[in-house]
Amino acid sequence: MRLQEYFLLPGPTNVPNNVLRSMAAPMINHRGPAFQEILEAITEKSKKVFKTKHEVFTLTASGTGGLEAAVVNFINPGEKVIVASIGNFGERFEKIAKQYDADVEFIDFGWGNAIDPEVLEERLAKDVNHEIKAILCQHNETSTAVVNPIKAVSEARKGHPALLIVDTVSGLGAAEFDMDGWNVDVAIAGSQKAFMAPPGLAFLAANERAMKKAETCTNHKFYFNLLEARKWLEKGQTPFTPAISVFYAVEEALRYFDEVGVDAVVRDHYRHRDLVRTGLKAMGLELLIKDDAIASPAVTAVKCPEGIDPAKLRKLLLEKFNIVIAGGQGKFSTSTFRVGHLGAVQDMDLIAAISGLEMVLKIMGADISLGQGVRAMEEALLAE
Ligand SMILES: *Cc1c(COP(=O)(O)O)cnc(C)c1O
Repeated sequence: MRLQEYFLLPGPTNVPNNVLRSMAAPMINHRGPAFQEILEAITEKSKKVFKTKHEVFTLTASGTGGLEAAVVNFINPGEKVIVASIGNFGERFEKIAKQYDADVEFIDFGWGNAIDPEVLEERLAKDVNHEIKAILCQHNETSTAVVNPIKAVSEARKGHPALLIVDTVSGLGAAEFDMDGWNVDVAIAGSQKAFMAPPGLAFLAANERAMKKAETCTNHKFYFNLLEARKWLEKGQTPFTPAISVFYAVEEALRYFDEVGVDAVVRDHYRHRDLVRTGLKAMGLELLIKDDAIASPAVTAVKCPEGIDPAKLRKLLLEKFNIVIAGGQGKFSTSTFRVGHLGAVQDMDLIAAISGLEMVLKIMGADISLGQGVRAMEEALLAE
């Protein structure tokens, strides 16, 4: 028998029991009134999470499908775009854009850093003929556990008309985001992150400027044609058969967002971030991101102590204590691990994770005194 794990990944995330149960309902006609009701509820409620009045498309795809949908609907082949990258998912955005023949200017701000809006501002100011048609970037870079200053990135455009296309797959619902207030043109999220639902749906929000571009965009597409999706959405349907069970789940999860409000959900993520960082620091571990101002509220990356293999550490955590955390990514894969605090996570899950980490590191021979991290977290909670 497999007992429920302490499940601390930056996606997929823990799915609450009521959300799990909602999926055990029978199939319905995706061209009938019951599905229309669900689609409309999800569309309206997800708009509140994005903080947008514009279109939100719910696509049956993983988050990457949502990124691909953005590229094929808003970027023409041969068009110049900037990919502002700070890690693995920035590099993924570059690959997708290149695959669809965009002329990509890759600006690497470095793994572990956030985007410097001044660098973007200078670059865009030089583009007097407005050849750059879009800026692609991450809101929350999951690989390095950094959150980007999207409001400042948007403002860095000044009068430049480039579309701002933001991958907020692991950011939305965890880090502060205000699509319309910040003038973000396109934003993409996914069901398996802060939405507390299983993988399977991507959400793509697009404003009128972006949809106008879509109307003339000639890039190749079939499944992800948003103009088709818009026509069907008006009828309360999707162009193709949707992942109906995941729709059930997201509808149920969004009830929670609606009840407590997205701002409260986001605040909780920052609380959990601070709690985890407090515990890790008190253990004497080194955080990959030292600057609180850019530290992700969805996931925390930690440097493994000298001589400790993060893969072995994670294996032991799972075997001994049923705790699941994430490995490092890319160039940090052999030197870091990541603790997710995204979605339905409770204070005590995080205390359990830190307690497990203390014990496993001790077993592995690291210089750790038991209880330091846990004590600091308990004190932080009592001081709230
Ligand atoms: C999880 C994630 C994605 C999407 O990944 P999928 O596996 O395709 O769902 C995209 N961007 C970021 C920043 C992510 O964290």
